[in-house]
Amino acid sequence: MSDIDKDFTIVQERLEDWVKTSLPCSANGRVAAYIPELSKAPSDALGIYILDKQGQALSAGDCGLQFTMQSISKVFTLILALMDKGEKAVFSKVGMEPTGDNFNSMLKLELVRPGIPFNPLINAGAIAISSLIDGVSPAEKSARVLSFFRSLASNDSLDYDEDVYRSESETANLNRSMGYLLKDNGVLEGDVDEVLDVYFRHCSINVNCADLSRMALVLAFDGADPITGERLIPRRYVQIAKTFMTTCGMYNASGEFAIQVGLPAKSGVSGGILTMVPGRYGIGVVGPALNAKGNSIAGVQLLETIAQELDWSLF
Ligand code: GLU
Repeated sequence: MSDIDKDFTIVQERLEDWVKTSLPCSANGRVAAYIPELSKAPSDALGIYILDKQGQALSAGDCGLQFTMQSISKVFTLILALMDKGEKAVFSKVGMEPTGDNFNSMLKLELVRPGIPFNPLINAGAIAISSLIDGVSPAEKSARVLSFFRSLASNDSLDYDEDVYRSESETANLNRSMGYLLKDNGVLEGDVDEVLDVYFRHCSINVNCADLSRMALVLAFDGADPITGERLIPRRYVQIAKTFMTTCGMYNASGEFAIQVGLPAKSGVSGGILTMVPGRYGIGVVGPALNAKGNSIAGVQLLETIAQELDWSLF
């Protein structure tokens, strides 16, 4: 029996139990409400989907729940910008370091010179990345992003949640002010509102845990989809993305997540978490109730349990 089969047999028996024991801590978290539409998500949901290279899957809990990618999308827009513009151009607009500040902070854009975002996974950095996606119009850029995400998820029906898109666009005063500050700092090319539109659109792409696991599987296998054999991303860009996920993918709890789980991951304010065991599994998790750091409270608890039980940490 290979390692993978062994893990799968063990997990099959225990995954439902781990979901059941992690779920109650949702009561200590809160669903994000600063984007009003997100507050409609069920606070007591928890689901997980684990996919291996043969396409075998394990799932438990509410893994059919649809949710928007939010910050998880930043990993893949970073990759697309790298594929469009190359490393040098991308890293002339964003840095490579964690901030220790909130994901939507603009503090360091004024305090630290040059005023470029510290990394591509905070809002300022992801907004800068949106301006680097190829396309003659915001609509064309967004269409390219959506089609890239569809190919990574092997799901042609991935689409926007228009209600979440509108809800964010109407209330995003902080992100708009950040966009203008970035423009003034010489980071953003083009029209600020158009760049923000690309950003709001990619944050509102609707997925479920299975979609996230498939996208994660491509990263787990260094950019080549192990199920179809197709190379979708150059290996170097996956390496960059996985490194950012490890150092800043879980907001200001990235260090803690690296210690307790030990896998590259990216979370979003909708309660989704995309993670992977490199060379083995792609994993999608959802649990809309968030902890104080903005990560799914039950989702993190569940991943801590599984990673410790199955010794998944890379470190
Ligand atoms: N669209 C969200 C925002 O800009 C993404 C935040 C997140 O998931 O961290 O606030």
